[in-house]
Amino acid sequence: MTHPQFDRIALIGIGLIGSSIARDVKELGLANHVVISTRSSETLKRAEELELGTEYTASAADAVKDADLVIVSVPVGASETVAKQIAGSLKPGAIVTDVGSTKASVIAQMAPHMPEGVHFIPGHPLAGTEKSGPDAGFPGLFRDRWCIFTPLPDTDQAALDQLKAFWVALGSRIDEMDPEHHDKVLAIVSHLPHIIAYNIVGTADDLETVTESEVIKYSASGFRDFTRLAASDPTMWRDVCLHNKDAILEMLARFSEDLAYLQRAIRWGEGDKLFELFSRTRTIRRSIVQAGQDVDAPDFGRHALDVKK
Ligand code: NAP
Repeated sequence: MTHPQFDRIALIGIGLIGSSIARDVKELGLANHVVISTRSSETLKRAEELELGTEYTASAADAVKDADLVIVSVPVGASETVAKQIAGSLKPGAIVTDVGSTKASVIAQMAPHMPEGVHFIPGHPLAGTEKSGPDAGFPGLFRDRWCIFTPLPDTDQAALDQLKAFWVALGSRIDEMDPEHHDKVLAIVSHLPHIIAYNIVGTADDLETVTESEVIKYSASGFRDFTRLAASDPTMWRDVCLHNKDAILEMLARFSEDLAYLQRAIRWGEGDKLFELFSRTRTIRRSIVQAGQDVDAPDFGRHALDVKK
């Protein structure tokens, strides 16, 4: 057990991400008090049953009173609502952060409501699964995963260092970038793959010549991996699409162009072009495994990662 880093932490939103943070904070002893708040009474009750915190309240404003660190873990489209709810109750000197998958939009929604003397430092842990809710979280979710901060130009260095130390205690690797760049990078490595997965599974569902039972029965190959992504939380991903619109549309345009190139190569039997591309992409996979971001198991490491948690 490590020493408490904060006296009081408030967790606003207690789904997959919020509850994983709560589990780590408890296991590592990173705070004396952990106040949990979520909008529905069912989720709040479940968080209490799971003993994820030390206090529970339906009021986000009450939860943040006297908190030294506030972590907002709600769908990105709800950021402004939460910012407005908590703004008047934040303690001077408190650190407010979030875990949202898009950054420019979250900053635009939250920063204007943050009072003078409160340190608002946006963040995004690159860790998750396709599951949601407080039961889906687990300790160690953030271990060896990146957590990206997109600090504002006037961010207090001491507060940033304190927040970084918190995520390092959860096992994360730390990086910083500007919000627009974050949104572009995430559009290609996370948002586009999810959109493609939603699309391919949707296409399979719409096919008239292949039955739904055949799609399910024979899905042991490539399709199965897409269905996992396509099972991700609809609210979260609706919000990601709406709140990273420009970067996603830019990446989708590039993707469509490249797909047309592939389509043409297949039509004209240009095997050399296909072989060159497929060889290039294979090295990317190897680099990801070498960087420790996945393991080289035939099931894409999911079994190994499940065992790890
Ligand atoms: P989740 O499991 O679905 O939990 C969402 C939490 O937010 C719940 O406590 C829910 O409350 C609350 N919530 C939902 N809609 C709300 C609204 N309109 N107003 C206020 N609260 C609301 O979601 P999650 O996966 O933890 O994701 C939370 C954030 O982390 C999102 O911004 C997401 O982009 C980001 N993120 C997710 C992943 C991932 O893989 N899932 C990875 C990195 C970052 P109730 O249950 O009480 O309704």
